[in-house]
Amino acid sequence: MFRKVHFRLALLCASITCFILAVMSCGYLYISEKSLKDSSFAAFQDEMKDISGSFAESSVLTWEQLARIEDQGTYSIQILDNEVPLLFHRQSSSQEELFAAAWRYFEEHFAFSSFEESPVYCAEFDFPSKASGSSDYYGCAIVLERNGGMLKIMILMPLTALEQQIRSQRILFSLLTALAAAALFLFAWYFTWKLLRPLEESQRRQTQFVAAASHELRTPLAVILSCASASRCGNEEERAHFLDSIQSEGMRMSGLIDDMLLLSGMEAHTWSVEMRPTELDTLLLETFEAFEPVAAEKPVRLAIELPQEALPPCSCDPGRIRQVLSILLHNAVSYTPAQGLIRLSLAYDRKTFRIQVADNGIGIPEEEKSRIFERFYRADPSRSRKGHFGLGLAIASEIIKAHQGQILVGDTPGGGSTFTLLLPLL
Ligand code: ADP
Repeated sequence: MFRKVHFRLALLCASITCFILAVMSCGYLYISEKSLKDSSFAAFQDEMKDISGSFAESSVLTWEQLARIEDQGTYSIQILDNEVPLLFHRQSSSQEELFAAAWRYFEEHFAFSSFEESPVYCAEFDFPSKASGSSDYYGCAIVLERNGGMLKIMILMPLTALEQQIRSQRILFSLLTALAAAALFLFAWYFTWKLLRPLEESQRRQTQFVAAASHELRTPLAVILSCASASRCGNEEERAHFLDSIQSEGMRMSGLIDDMLLLSGMEAHTWSVEMRPTELDTLLLETFEAFEPVAAEKPVRLAIELPQEALPPCSCDPGRIRQVLSILLHNAVSYTPAQGLIRLSLAYDRKTFRIQVADNGIGIPEEEKSRIFERFYRADPSRSRKGHFGLGLAIASEIIKAHQGQILVGDTPGGGSTFTLLLPLL
């Protein structure tokens, strides 16, 4: 499912950015082509001004003069002396057609009437030569008064070079836009992958959580069902025993469901810590006293070390911190053999409160230290029958995270595990 969403999202992002890029490229291309055409037409106009000036000054037009103009640039010239073509060299029929079309264009678009203002009339124009089927032309019509008659000169310049330049520019731009589009798609692919990865991870964790939770709930449920059916045919004493089992498995299930609800509430942010100034030494002492009977039952020794000096109050949720301590002390009692020692201690270094629960029990192998905070992770899965579902440390870790603190695990010198809670002085 995520693959499909990823592809669609990347395609959407890339399409939008490519569309913007294409619009901007077209805009830039339009402006650049327009300025290229304007500057080329301006250069043509300047040259035609010079040529028409030289025609106006000289009383006779020599063939050499005309041939030189043709050779200079890519010009074609036609001269009409009182509307009669003056052939200074032969012109093909297509050229004649072209000039005829150019004269028609000139007459339709320019209104020359007399030589009152100036003895030479010169008009430059951009001439679309659709008739010839070839490129467009710049045209310049020069009208001169000669011996009482009219001498008309048409100079045409094909725009092949300019059109070629524009075409190459368009091809280059299309290639660059295609390259940019490919790069944008790759970027969109990577960007959306980065965006979706946490969602995919969270979905994966949810699926794992549900699978593990169902697995954990199945065991007590199976016990309850088998005890219920066995109690039907047992005697009074057996029935009481089965009912006890049903009750204890029911309580185990209820504890597990509470833990799962707490964790999913943390995930959905429907749960928050209620911070208030708390005397941490008092809180530790109360937890210690509550655990003394549990330790005595095992039996393990329980010790507490509190700082001599008075500590500033710690801003935390006392109920939740007590819950974390209970999880750590429960684990310490569970994973420490009889006659072992569990030490609960508190220290303060002006910035951080440091609470430690150290035991000299079985310890945690190095490779498992990073995994024990995962949900439903148990180093020894057989312990689930004793109420250990592998959720305790996951809950403790979430609670400490909500306090902007840290939970660390290390080894106790001489053997065993030491859990350290770091709570900032907020
Ligand atoms: P559980 O309910 O199984 O104890 P936790 O999340 O509290 O789940 O702990 C996860 C795992 O971490 C335990 O299964 C155990 O292997 C290991 N562990 C936790 N605390 C201790 C400890 N004090 N000593 C040794 N191992 C521990």
